[in-house]
Amino acid sequence: IKPDPAVIVIFGASGDLTARKVVPALYNLFLDDYLPAQYSIVGVSRTPFNDDEFRTHLRSGVEKFSRRGTPKEKEWSAFAGNVHYLQAEYNDPSLYQKLLELDETSWSTPPNLIFYLATPPNLFPEIISQLGNFDLLRGDSRYRIVIEKPFGHDLKSAQKLNQELTQVFREHQIYRIDHYLGKETVQNILAFRFGNAVWEPIWNRNFIDHIQITVAEQIGIGRRGGYYESAGALRDMMQNHLLQLLCFMAMEPPTSFDADEIRNKKVDVMHAIRLISREEVPRFAVRGQYGGGLVEGESVPSYRAETGVRASSNTETFAALKLFIDNWRWQGVPFYLRTGKRMPARVSEISLQFRPVPHHPFSHLNTQLFQPNRLVIQIEPNEGIVLRTLAKEPGLGMKLKQVDMQYCYHDVFKTPSPDAYETLLVDILRDDPGLFMRADQVEAAWRVLDPILEVWRSNQELNFPNYQPGQWGPPEAEHLIAQDRRTWLPPVCAELKRG
Ligand code: NAP
Repeated sequence: IKPDPAVIVIFGASGDLTARKVVPALYNLFLDDYLPAQYSIVGVSRTPFNDDEFRTHLRSGVEKFSRRGTPKEKEWSAFAGNVHYLQAEYNDPSLYQKLLELDETSWSTPPNLIFYLATPPNLFPEIISQLGNFDLLRGDSRYRIVIEKPFGHDLKSAQKLNQELTQVFREHQIYRIDHYLGKETVQNILAFRFGNAVWEPIWNRNFIDHIQITVAEQIGIGRRGGYYESAGALRDMMQNHLLQLLCFMAMEPPTSFDADEIRNKKVDVMHAIRLISREEVPRFAVRGQYGGGLVEGESVPSYRAETGVRASSNTETFAALKLFIDNWRWQGVPFYLRTGKRMPARVSEISLQFRPVPHHPFSHLNTQLFQPNRLVIQIEPNEGIVLRTLAKEPGLGMKLKQVDMQYCYHDVFKTPSPDAYETLLVDILRDDPGLFMRADQVEAAWRVLDPILEVWRSNQELNFPNYQPGQWGPPEAEHLIAQDRRTWLPPVCAELKRG
């Protein structure tokens, strides 16, 4: 179904996010016929562009970042004809007057007006408060606001941002993007868990020993030093992506696919996460920072030597947590989460480690070597699911070998997955907020992390850097899990690469 006519206003239109993600996604939606029959895209920022210059700037973004590469002339012209630019300062009231006038089109249906804030977050309050001068916005779902993480830098600032937003918009008009939720493989967790009857009976403390979530990047901080210095791995990745993955894995079955039903079930998980006390932080949370060294024969700088980073910076580029969920399903099952930069591989994977069999009849074999079953949900770069089992090795006698039952998105479905931003933009156009963060989810996530951030802020006596590029974080990350007589499981994708 085509969405209703829409005017999409992008603040921060000259910036990286607009060129890298938002416009390439809109262009792909145009090609796939998902944009409304009538639409207009209006970029706003201070850089002096006229319409044509702005379109040329966006075209090079599409060329570089779109999964389809260089646009064809005819198609690009048809799309770009609906793209316009307004040069303005965000504190100028006349800008907002002009934007609200975009509402008055000659289109058959009054358009939805979507305000996409692709600006640094310190500009959100100004833009939101200027929009607040127009009473007509409040409560009308024709008007929507989209914001990008970070949603605050701790609980207090997140609450403040939520208050600023809800003074102007109602919750159902607010779309907080965590692009991870737009990924096919993340949404597939819901299909996998709740579309199949076989998993639910074993998806609990009786069968699952523990769960590991790894979101690792091979790259360093690159040119994002300025931003990253005030964030760190816990805020940049754990607060949003990893905790959201945990919610997908741990949530109760929803009764419908209604946006708030899914979000209610997820926030229930967040509220059930056992808060870590200040005293417990060293046993439950580990931080690290990468040093310099060689990666695949190439010398790479330490975090402290990156552009925009203080030479004495104690910002963490790696974080690992052990969390418990205090409810009937998950009591006593640890969730180990880790994320970092300059890791051995770019990989996002979730591993469910099942309990060992209660008794092995294969007494003639060294059963110590048998790994319990493991279910791996591969989010990226491989997209698929692996179930690790034991099987009889062909030959005389009974010998067992570990084998993988695997399905790969690419092999099964043959079609390339849409970019997360395409999925999310369609949902915004269709007014479906199920994949977006609600205020209570954001605040609940900060409530989990605030004690850790506080302890880390007060203790700055660190031996950073404490891991080499190409390592899975500092030795303390191993201790975090080894103290429970477990180990981090090598990501399946890294194992395949090695093997
Ligand atoms: P950006 O390139 O730093 O900034 C976007 C635009 O905002 C700039 O082109 C600039 O346009 C304007 N701007 C910057 N500082 C300003 C100031 N002090 N006053 C007025 N305008 C200013 O940011 P971005 O990387 O596109 O990211 C935008 C938002 O998305 C941020 O909240 C970021 O955290 C989030 N995000 C980005 C990415 C990504 O891939 N880039 C990913 C996830 C989340 P003019 O100078 O032309 O006004």
